[in-house]
Amino acid sequence: MPFDTVADPTPLSPRLGRPGTGTCIIRGLQRRCPACGMGNLFCGFLTVQPVCAVCGNDNGAYPSDDFAPYVTIFLVLHLMTPFLIGADALWTPPFWLEGLIALPIFTAATIALLPYAKGGVIGFAYAMGVRRRSADQDRLG
Ligand SMILES: [Zn+2]
Repeated sequence: MPFDTVADPTPLSPRLGRPGTGTCIIRGLQRRCPACGMGNLFCGFLTVQPVCAVCGNDNGAYPSDDFAPYVTIFLVLHLMTPFLIGADALWTPPFWLEGLIALPIFTAATIALLPYAKGGVIGFAYAMGVRRRSADQDRLG
């Protein structure tokens, strides 16, 4: 099993405590560290900053893997489908023209939403205590 859901060794400030699940997800959606909400979660477009510069949280330990693209595709399809159905009902464009217009919009929306979805997924993983297993844990079984 690639993930470990037991004891999360992330050091947190005792004054702040551990934030709630919704707070962690919102912080991730804002592309901020889910632990403190202050540091940047990403150091590139989709590259996770391994350690938060503000609180030192090990953000690289929380997996997003394929779940962020699934969430992104789910959202984009559900956001764009009413427009496609509306366009068909009002205009009935030829299939090739509809594809020519819709595909760039789908692509742009997917690329635009992916970092936010990835941040939200990492925030959710942090809140649930889902961490990547280290190489030592994999070797020991
Ligand atoms: Zn932080």
